[in-house]
Amino acid sequence: MTDAATDDTVNQDTATATTQQREQHSFQTEARQLLHLMVHSLYSNREIFLRELVSNAADACDKLRFLAVSDAGLLGDDSELRIRISVDEEAGTLTVSDNGIGMDRDEVIANLGTIARSGTKEFLQQLRDSKSEQRAELIGQFGVGFYSAFIVADSVTVETRRAGSAAESGVRWQSDGEGEYTLESIERAQRGTDVIVKLKQDASEFLREYRLRSIIQRYSGHISFPIQLLTQPPADVDEDGKEKDQPAPEWQTVNETTALWTRPRADISDEEYADFYRQLSHDSEPPLTWTHNHVEGSQSYKTLLYVPGHAPYDMMFNRDERQGLKLYVQRVLIMDAAEQLLPNYLRFVRGVVDSADLPLNVSREILQENDLLQKIRAAVVKRSLNMLEKLSEDADKYRQFWTQFGTVLKEGIVEDMGNRDEIARLLRFASTRTGLDATTSLPEYIDNMPEGQDTIWYVTADNLKAAAGSPHLEWFREQGIEVLLLGDRIDEWLMGYWFEFDGKSLKSIAKGKLDAAEAEEPEQADKDLLERLHRLLDERVQAVTSSARLKSSAACLVLDENAMAMHMQQLLQQAGQDVPANKPALEINLQHPLWQQLREADDARFEDLGWLLYEQAVLSGGGQLDDPAAFVQRTNRLLIPAADADS
Ligand code: ADP
Repeated sequence: MTDAATDDTVNQDTATATTQQREQHSFQTEARQLLHLMVHSLYSNREIFLRELVSNAADACDKLRFLAVSDAGLLGDDSELRIRISVDEEAGTLTVSDNGIGMDRDEVIANLGTIARSGTKEFLQQLRDSKSEQRAELIGQFGVGFYSAFIVADSVTVETRRAGSAAESGVRWQSDGEGEYTLESIERAQRGTDVIVKLKQDASEFLREYRLRSIIQRYSGHISFPIQLLTQPPADVDEDGKEKDQPAPEWQTVNETTALWTRPRADISDEEYADFYRQLSHDSEPPLTWTHNHVEGSQSYKTLLYVPGHAPYDMMFNRDERQGLKLYVQRVLIMDAAEQLLPNYLRFVRGVVDSADLPLNVSREILQENDLLQKIRAAVVKRSLNMLEKLSEDADKYRQFWTQFGTVLKEGIVEDMGNRDEIARLLRFASTRTGLDATTSLPEYIDNMPEGQDTIWYVTADNLKAAAGSPHLEWFREQGIEVLLLGDRIDEWLMGYWFEFDGKSLKSIAKGKLDAAEAEEPEQADKDLLERLHRLLDERVQAVTSSARLKSSAACLVLDENAMAMHMQQLLQQAGQDVPANKPALEINLQHPLWQQLREADDARFEDLGWLLYEQAVLSGGGQLDDPAAFVQRTNRLLIPAADADS
């Protein structure tokens, strides 16, 4: 590394000043590990390093353009923001240079000395667990872009100067990616940043102009600043076919700098839309669909919205921190992920909003209350829902969408009352008619309803299989009534807020009375026995009754109309929440052989069989037993002849 390296600097976070000008610093311990892993796992994708450096350079230009709105002096006499790429074949270096915002010394330490600032551990884990096709995308998601240079580099040098600061306040950062870096002060005539990559021997392909050109066009074609490649024009030929003197190399712009979303739809090919999506999202897969609109009138704005083909890794758990759309005002990037532009339940949508009317100096706080922005947001929601509606005409694509984002979209039923019906039409459910591998929509369910049915029936459980195994389904199956099977964690919560669709009520088959299935009045002996069973189980159930809904199961639990499902009650209790006591009723199938046995049982056996009936009902309803050991002992007593049964 450098001549200043000493043992005691290794693996420390702090700087050790060795000379006035040049200091040696160490990355955190994890950084070394991360770099190592990245270099090896991304080898087959290594050209993405250029995309990452160009993307950082473009961000730096965006930041300066934004600041220059209120402080034009920052641009000085160098107002054409651009990114330049050049190679020095002899030295074996590739340089990505920008005249953007640049960095001061502290920023260099904070930005380049701390690898993947927050998510390093998580990133490492994901990288290990992911397939190689997914790795390039992970790099983008976790913001370790700059370090991807070490995939191809023996060493990387960054020379930078913050816009607005003096020439002597330049900084040089240098590292071979092994765990340390050096910093020194330099004089630098121009603002902005040069990233100089000393290429490894086997990476000399990145010295070739045509190779660089094709990578830039592929990955960075829609960056809105000119990307210029230092190009050797072909030598002119004189009349005799002899070459004249070699002309000087010149900067040639290799990308399309007209922002895609400002161009008319008819002029944009699907391929361009897909390319732009890839650059916007850092997703290596194409989008599922998109919608592009220019709105002119009292307000003018442009929107370009995409549905990705797959969910990012953290969609369900941590809300994605890049959630939101890129907000531009007259092509100046104002915010990278304006979450104010999208409700939570549409957090998978990616895209751009460019407003002609918002003030250029809006802050996140102002955005929250801005009327115009609220209007744009409402329009973005409508457009997104329309886009999904259209997508649903393509069964395969919609299935893909639903698998990836269905649970997120469902949140909209509760979050966005104003669009509830539109959202509801977009939901899909497995049902007793479709089976577990297919789905139906609510309009389709209604179309299939027999004359006279006015309820949309569903059952919730911890998972689809448990829902499909619910004993409550028996009567419905016999009657040929379709029941929706809801097995997502959020379904029980969702259905607690949602009672109607298209004039039909939504009801759980495991809650409340079933008017249509009225049980016959039991005989007196059975009535007595039901009462006796109730006394036994009094702590757990509010009633024990004869059931008309059971056909093959012996017993099931039925909750009050408004009660929370058992699996949900238990989940909340486990999370330490107070859940209002809500005792279910136990319904018994009087035709079942177990009931017959109960009739004939002595006291001890009655108790065992009685509890077993209850416990079976808990289990088949997707609940968990409070005391599994007691259940096991009880089952053994019933299975093993009395004399041996003591365990
Ligand atoms: P990310 O870009 O995802 O934040 P990187 O590791 O690529 O992560 O870069 C870290 C940070 O370094 C950036 O956020 C930015 O602040 C700074 N940086 C990188 N390249 C440049 C550049 N060319 N000009 C100014 N700042 C830069």
